[in-house]
Amino acid sequence: MTVEVVDIVVDRERSLGVAWEDGSRLDISLRDLRSLCPCAGCIGVRERGAEIEPPAGLSALSAELHGNWGLAIRWSDGHETGIYGWEMLRSLAGGVGE
Ligand SMILES: [Zn+2]
Repeated sequence: MTVEVVDIVVDRERSLGVAWEDGSRLDISLRDLRSLCPCAGCIGVRERGAEIEPPAGLSALSAELHGNWGLAIRWSDGHETGIYGWEMLRSLAGGVGE
């Protein structure tokens, strides 16, 4: 089941907001989002049980749609190969009415 994304708001210094057609929303700080970076390097770090500590002054250089699949974010610290899938972002969002 796919619920469509109806709105994306990127504040490149601060946060990402996503809204779905069923009314659920995600508002996440860039630091939190960066710590969930889905690139292979960061997945490896988390698999070792380490935490990802985003650098001070982190920003998003760009955020682009990657087909229907998700959002590709280029970070100011050089990470850019991971794609934040809608499924994953939705799993972080509050449910409807929360
Ligand atoms: Zn990464």
